[in-house]
Amino acid sequence: MPYKNINPMLVAIDEAEKAGLRDEVPVGAAIYDHEHGHIVAKAGNNVRSLNDPTAHAEILVIREACKKIGQSRLAFFSLYVTLEPCPMCCQAISFARLPKLVFGAYDTKGGGVEHGPKIFSHPTSHHYLEILGGIEEQRCGELLTDFFNKKRQEGSSVKKNLNKS
Ligand SMILES: [Zn+2]
Repeated sequence: MPYKNINPMLVAIDEAEKAGLRDEVPVGAAIYDHEHGHIVAKAGNNVRSLNDPTAHAEILVIREACKKIGQSRLAFFSLYVTLEPCPMCCQAISFARLPKLVFGAYDTKGGGVEHGPKIFSHPTSHHYLEILGGIEEQRCGELLTDFFNKKRQEGSSVKKNLNKS
């Protein structure tokens, strides 16, 4: 069985790094089968390459896992993701009936778990799940800050070049 007994958050981090290399915002996710100790699916953010604003790592990994197991619910698996999911992904997580969510860095601006609409603690949310935030937080967060710092530097050098011409 591939990826057996591997830390699912490290698989998600690996996917985030790969996304960064594709010039995507570095967020990665993995779906883990606790009972059998293996990764069911893994994916990184792919919004730019697919020209799809909904192609967040969580959505892609849920789709892949559902396809693999041939079901529309993932009631026996856990989702690991490097960044606090946005409200759209929180809804997808509840539609997939995932019983456990583990995330890395907190997202004070775009997150929907501990921030913003706090989807899972909303009275209209009928899905209860176990949530663990801040796992490998520093590493997951640094991937994002490094990415955006690099973008800013590239942006300022592009501007400098424009001023020269
Ligand atoms: Zn999302």
